[in-house]
Amino acid sequence: MGINNSKYWNEALETQSRDELEAQQLKDLKEIVQFAYDNAPYYKRSFDAAGVKPSDIKTLKDIEKFPFINKKTQRETQGVGSFLGELCAVPEDEVVFISTSSGSTGVPTISPFTAKDFDEFQDTEARWFWQVGVRPQDRYVHALNFSLYVGGPDVIGAQRTGALCIWGGTLPSERLLWVLKTYQPTVIWTSPSYAWQLGEKALKQGIDPKKDLNIKKIIVAGELGGSIDATRHAIEELWGAQVYDFYGLSDIFGACAAMCEYKDGLHIAENHILVETVDPQTGRVLPPGSKGEFVFTTLRKHARPLIRFRTGDIGWIDTTKCKCGRTHGRIHVLGRKDDMFIVSAVNVFTSDVEAVIRGISGITGEYLIRIFEKDFTCKYSVEIETKFDNKQSDEEVATLVSNSLKARIGVKPYTVVVHKDGDLNTRSEHKSKRVIDERTQKPE
Ligand SMILES: [Zn+2]
Repeated sequence: MGINNSKYWNEALETQSRDELEAQQLKDLKEIVQFAYDNAPYYKRSFDAAGVKPSDIKTLKDIEKFPFINKKTQRETQGVGSFLGELCAVPEDEVVFISTSSGSTGVPTISPFTAKDFDEFQDTEARWFWQVGVRPQDRYVHALNFSLYVGGPDVIGAQRTGALCIWGGTLPSERLLWVLKTYQPTVIWTSPSYAWQLGEKALKQGIDPKKDLNIKKIIVAGELGGSIDATRHAIEELWGAQVYDFYGLSDIFGACAAMCEYKDGLHIAENHILVETVDPQTGRVLPPGSKGEFVFTTLRKHARPLIRFRTGDIGWIDTTKCKCGRTHGRIHVLGRKDDMFIVSAVNVFTSDVEAVIRGISGITGEYLIRIFEKDFTCKYSVEIETKFDNKQSDEEVATLVSNSLKARIGVKPYTVVVHKDGDLNTRSEHKSKRVIDERTQKPE
């Protein structure tokens, strides 16, 4: 491969017109739906039951006639009939890699790849690394803390840019700081909460991330923080580095979408994923640009095609051309469907609460949300930590937080509990658990 002097990893692909992109999507959609029907027992059964057939696809919109699948479909078909299960469309001989989900919401689900799937997966990851400016002269530390997770092999995608790569994986933070100090890498990928904690830990050890380390770019994924301006800015300030949010799904790719330099949403690989947005309750398809649940159809993964997979993620897609010149749409992820709750007819996302908490000075930015019922209506309370050097009384802090939440979200929390710095047990090297739902009856 020659030297790539372009700002794009694959200029022809990334800047193609919507017409060209959609024509290719339609071609791939027809092929993959037929392939799924012919080779995956589940799809044959469910399409027949719904009275649809692959030849019904004449336009991209025709996908709406096909039934949804979700995480539950994966669990119920996994291991049925064969090791890989009924959603898989190739024999095990053709599968070269599987990852598994964290299982944080149930039985872990596997994601299989053929050699071609895997190659295209890593080409897509290289595209994201290139998009945020990773170049051959960079040193990259892959410090994602998810063993078995689909983000693990993304270090191979980073290598394809020509950067020098260090596979950190699950390292204790002391050891990781040693790597950062000794090898002076310029780019790191981790979770937003861990990026924050690692920076704080460095400071406590007398290492100033801005002066003693050489990190210029931080890639974050796995939690919403990277798309919350206040959280991203706080991490950028702490490290003196640029933060870019990546969005992955254990069911598809380590990163399916990534920010560009404009950080206005995340470009999604529309050549691999057909995006629909549906009403999270009814499943009704919404016009592009509306807020709703993302439904993804994988266009090119043959080991296990996902046809109309309900992601459980709420957001919206912008398909207008970005200032960076890329034409692939940008998704704005607002939160998990499970993390959305309704208080006084207002849809509240964990990310809204986080945006407020991270924007207030005098508190640490750690938080815990409790959702509960009182007098048969849904309420929420928020627990936060006041900083050691905060001169305000706990009452003043509570009032400030409560008013700020009311201003941004529209509904006040029932209570704000103020803890001392370090007393909230929410710091984690993995995904932090920040929502406790105590409702006895949870909406579907
Ligand atoms: Zn862009």
